[in-house]
Amino acid sequence: MAKLGALVRAGVANTEGFYTLGGRLAIDFANSHRRIGHDRDGLGSFEDLLSFLKSHGHLHEDEASDLHMFLFQNPERCHSVVEALVGLRTKFHNVLTNSAGGWPIDLDFLNEINQRLEAFKSHLKVESTDEGMALKTVISEQGPEKLAYPILKDIADFLASDHVEKTKSCAGDDCGLYFVNLSRNGRRRWCSMSTCGNRAKVNAYLKRQEA
Ligand SMILES: [Zn+2]
Repeated sequence: MAKLGALVRAGVANTEGFYTLGGRLAIDFANSHRRIGHDRDGLGSFEDLLSFLKSHGHLHEDEASDLHMFLFQNPERCHSVVEALVGLRTKFHNVLTNSAGGWPIDLDFLNEINQRLEAFKSHLKVESTDEGMALKTVISEQGPEKLAYPILKDIADFLASDHVEKTKSCAGDDCGLYFVNLSRNGRRRWCSMSTCGNRAKVNAYLKRQEA
């Protein structure tokens, strides 16, 4: 898996093969249908969801192994969490495509995000970390449903931010990965220079040679 190693070093993906080029969790989640080295949907199973969140730093190893145990006790409940997230991801894709075309955020999507967030009881907590004090949101849900929380929270945060108008989909052929365009001149066109950007440069070069 030499290719994955190079992409990890370039900051394009993490060691689990999930893309990290979105610029934030919500957009990496939107890109999670693709996973390097896997042919099927990147969130095709409950284990995939655990890996996705763990590799993005949103799930602790201990919590992941507790939930892995839960999978044996109640697989149906775990699968329905994944199914709901995959459904949400499809709707989120539509929102991103529409907003790139200048359309406002779909109110049904907004309502769905709010309804799902409403199911969580949460409180704030100040915690001492290696980098100093941090303010965290703690939720009381301990079942597999809690896995949706960081994703829902970041989608909500995304919708309320100026990242919405800065989100683009890659100009590469058949790529379609999303990213928040935070480049200083706003001209970023590719999900990453190490993949689509390079390919486009090579193609442009070959075209010039042909001419
Ligand atoms: Zn691309």
